[in-house]
Amino acid sequence: MEQTLSIIKPDAVAKNVIGKILTRFEDAGLRIAVTKKIQLSREDAKAFYAVHKDRPFFNDLVEFMISGPVVVSVLEGDNAVAKNRELMGATNPKDAQKGTIRADFAESIDANAVHGSDSLENAKIEIEFFFAQREIV
Ligand code: ATP
Ligand code: MG
Repeated sequence: MEQTLSIIKPDAVAKNVIGKILTRFEDAGLRIAVTKKIQLSREDAKAFYAVHKDRPFFNDLVEFMISGPVVVSVLEGDNAVAKNRELMGATNPKDAQKGTIRADFAESIDANAVHGSDSLENAKIEIEFFFAQREIV
């Protein structure tokens, strides 16, 4: 049983598709261990995406992630990390396979609807970034 971190980004929250996206996870057999809607601070967003701090798109990414509330969830199930990435689709929605979350709900590589941990190791770090252990059932 794996756990992974999902973020529904500000573009998808603004579009009122939180429920539709969470339903995709449930329909694929993942369980929502915990979920909450929060407003990230600039400091939060910079720390969360620190691996990208030297990339040219870093500032735009941070500004986008704080442009409105996000929904952070811990998803749980067999192969949760890979399964979530599969459901999300490619980073650029133009390249995302039909039926994936990004193909169906995202507009651009900047506003791409969801984040998902890219490895089990990063999933642990990202879950701890947002949740106390006692919050995760
Ligand atoms: P995420 O980490 O948000 O789940 P990802 O793992 O598919 O997305 P990363 O390579 O980790 O993609 O990039 C993090 C985010 O930075 C992307 O979701 C995207 O919004 C933005 N990004 C990545 N590459 C580019 C790019 N070439 N131009 C603009 N924005 C980009
Ligand atoms: Mg990533």
